[in-house]
Amino acid sequence: MAQGEMTVTARDAVSPRLGRSNRDIVTLGVASAAIILFVGNGGSVLPQIVRSMVGDGSGPDRLLINALLLNIALVIFGWRRYRDLSAEIAERRKAEALARDLTEHDALTGCLNRRSIGAAASALATTAKARGDLVAFIMLDLDRFKQVNDVNGHAAGDCLLGEAAERIRQALPPEALLARLGGDEFAVILPFAPARTDEVERLAEALIAKVAQPVQFGDFELETTISAGISRTEPGQPADIQAQLHMADIAMYHAKRNGRNRYAWFEANMESEQRFQSEVAAGVRRGIPLGEFVPYYEKQIDLESGSITGFEMLARWNSPKLGMVNPDIFIPVAEEIGVIGELSESLIRQALRDAKNWDPKLTLSVNISPVQLRDPWFAQKLLKILVEANFPPSRLDVEVTESCLHENVGLVRSLITSLKNQGITVSLDDFGSGYSSLSQLRTLPFDRIKINRSFVMSLLDDKDSATIIQSIIALGEGLGLPITAEGIENEAVLAELRRFGKFKGQGYLYGFPEPADRTEAELAQLDLLLEAPVAPAASAQQRAAR
Ligand code: C2E
Ligand code: CA
Repeated sequence: MAQGEMTVTARDAVSPRLGRSNRDIVTLGVASAAIILFVGNGGSVLPQIVRSMVGDGSGPDRLLINALLLNIALVIFGWRRYRDLSAEIAERRKAEALARDLTEHDALTGCLNRRSIGAAASALATTAKARGDLVAFIMLDLDRFKQVNDVNGHAAGDCLLGEAAERIRQALPPEALLARLGGDEFAVILPFAPARTDEVERLAEALIAKVAQPVQFGDFELETTISAGISRTEPGQPADIQAQLHMADIAMYHAKRNGRNRYAWFEANMESEQRFQSEVAAGVRRGIPLGEFVPYYEKQIDLESGSITGFEMLARWNSPKLGMVNPDIFIPVAEEIGVIGELSESLIRQALRDAKNWDPKLTLSVNISPVQLRDPWFAQKLLKILVEANFPPSRLDVEVTESCLHENVGLVRSLITSLKNQGITVSLDDFGSGYSSLSQLRTLPFDRIKINRSFVMSLLDDKDSATIIQSIIALGEGLGLPITAEGIENEAVLAELRRFGKFKGQGYLYGFPEPADRTEAELAQLDLLLEAPVAPAASAQQRAAR
């Protein structure tokens, strides 16, 4: 065996710790024996040496001297082994502490992790209960975190998570616990006095505000928001940590569905709502490839002449289980589960096939989700669909809701510009409730403004609505943008609107949104169809073949 090599016995391999401690005991025994012998030997050798030095005696026994030297070597060996052993123990303790830390804490943020939060929360709940306090469980989830990862890379995602954790930590009272439960999900657990739920709410608001501040990542500013769900223990009741976290999670999803960047307290009915949402999510996933999503069409009218100028496509879900479902139910779910692009593209393809048989002067408007606008390839995808359908881009109008403008104006601007470069027109939808600034509007090259239907519907009963409509009309004139009024339900509203000026309108006064075959039938009567409508049974097939 080469020098320095070590043999590892089978026993060491099975239990290195046991092998080492056995050797340590032997070392300790040898060192102790050496010290005892050194004391004994030294006791007889030293007087012999002293006597020989003063010339009284024949000198020390060589055998005893050798034994003494061996003793000294063994003592030194024992001391060095002791020193190594102490260093090894310190090292091992450090490694064990690190391992414990790694199993209890999240490596990226330093927060407690899912494994350790249960025990820490139980201890906190026990202490809180003993002094009559309740415990709040706040579940926090970064909004659209996946997108930051996808667009800016994982290093940016990690930076955002680290910064969010730090800001949350700094805002917490000393007793509170903070855990990262995985991905972009955090939990805060804290005691509070029974009458002070307002303190918990203030904390949730502060966390939401702090995380919403931009985060610097190299030359970029990353932006995110968080949604929070809160549950709390009941007075005198023991805390079931997992159940509380589950309730807070349900409340957090509720907050997300209600627009994100907000908090919600858990309420019992949220559980059934959650079940319904999961059912819708599963149905949407299943229904897209099965062609259950169909376009309906709402007429767009020139209010002055009363003639049809085009149609807005409105999605419907023909669900085998739920019947005909409106988009307000399934679009947010499709956005949430990441299938909105696929769903929208399938609907637009169907709508282009339908609209190709309409009179070429009729336009087709489609609604685009803010989620799709964040896709840098959106304009290219739309162009591809248009080319495949051989549909003139100038007949297509894309409706973008005002809320999109708050997200990333730069991205929205470049997207609108590339759509316009292709000849597609872009309308600003639901205008009036999103508080977009005038300067923003001026820099975004929209072709039209659509007044939010809530103002039109309340025009006759609410003075403010009339004022708002008039100022939107004035704004449109100032910016040179034509206006469409949505939600015209009766003649009285129409008459009032006409007093304000000339524009386009939509609403139930002109009929409800209709499926393709009924729209075709109506257009045929008005002589606005290229080919005669076909029997309903054959229509789908023929439309597909066009
Ligand atoms: P929106 O773009 O504001 O569409 C107008 C909504 O108002 C439609 O509801 C329409 O049926 C309804 N409406 C029209 N006239 C009247 C009226 O006179 N009175 C009343 N009370 N309501 C009227 P719908 O079809 O349920 O659509 C709701 C929203 O869903 C749409 O609002 C649009 O933002 C979204 N949406 C629809 N289809 C799609 C789609 O394919 N993709 C995306 N991303 N969103 C869509
Ligand atoms: Ca619309």
